[in-house]
Amino acid sequence: MIPADFDFVTVKSLDEALSLLAKHKDDAKILAGGHSLLPAMKLRLAQPSLLVDLSKVKDLSYIREEGGQVKIGAMTTHFQIESSELLKRICPLLPETATHLGDMQVRNKGTMGGSLAHADPAADWPAAVIALGAEILAVSPKGERVIKADDFFVEMMTSALEPGEILKEIRFAAPKGKSGQAYVKFRHPASGFAVVGIAVNLTAEGSKCGSCSIGVTGVASKPYRATGVEAAMKGASLDGKSLSAAADHVADGVRPNSDLFASGDYRKHLAQVYTRRALEAAASRAK
Ligand SMILES: Cc1cc2nc3c(=O)[nH]c(=O)nc-3n(C[C@H](O)[C@H](O)[C@H](O)COP(=O)(O)OP(=O)(O)OC[C@H]3O[C@@H](n4cnc5c(N)ncnc54)[C@H](O)[C@@H]3O)c2cc1C
Repeated sequence: MIPADFDFVTVKSLDEALSLLAKHKDDAKILAGGHSLLPAMKLRLAQPSLLVDLSKVKDLSYIREEGGQVKIGAMTTHFQIESSELLKRICPLLPETATHLGDMQVRNKGTMGGSLAHADPAADWPAAVIALGAEILAVSPKGERVIKADDFFVEMMTSALEPGEILKEIRFAAPKGKSGQAYVKFRHPASGFAVVGIAVNLTAEGSKCGSCSIGVTGVASKPYRATGVEAAMKGASLDGKSLSAAADHVADGVRPNSDLFASGDYRKHLAQVYTRRALEAAASRAK
């Protein structure tokens, strides 16, 4: 439970952080909220020789709406998102998702950027950013790079960030029209992480579904978009029978994880039930 020795630098700017990463390469790691990295270091699963602390880079912590886009800085904490009046008004999916994350201590320190970069397959934010069709802005000494949320989660604990890149911002188009959103989660009783987590972002056109976007976490080795459900929802009635039929497709084409807590079949069943619940909640909010 004691980490290996390491050096610690608190930087004042993104440029300073980037040059330290460039200099120390794989030996250095960014420290955001520390709520995933420090446990990993204490277990010696991670042994960086240098921690580059971003907590004093104030211009990485913001939530803004600009030109129809919502922009969230990587160092914005889970709690800042949970309590944002702007997000509650224009994108309630994010404050709702934040309430499911860990406990108050975790939400006060942990950051959205840190969670996404960590790419835990049972974390909550990945489902929401996929459902929102978000883009992730990464920065390196070579400049900026935009990665679609759908392409960001490569494998278990592996994101599309390249060595030396820092996640700077999460951005997405502000939901328009009669939009309804929901995040529902079956928590692991010990860790609190998602055994299954389903984020839905849909629009209603009369009594029918105009568009529907679904992100799934906890079910497979990486978070994913439930394209089978999205296809079944296209133009479908927003009634219980149609939502239930669409939800059955949530694990199409994926191999659900099997572990001591939940077999693959059980997880698939949970995912179907929770997708129906998420669709029902989002549909009722879109009316
Ligand atoms: C008790 C407990 C319960 C939790 N429960 C949940 C839960 O229910 N759901 C959930 O989703 N999460 C949960 N978490 C994890 C929590 O949300 C973490 O805050 C989050 O996963 C990591 O964010 P962080 O800011 O703490 O990042 P850190 O721990 O500081 O960093 C995590 C990793 O990302 C890298 N990194 C951080 N920021 C950047 C960046 N801007 N650019 C590039 N790389 C970066 C770091 O180098 C490190 O490898 C829990 C954690 C704890 C301790």
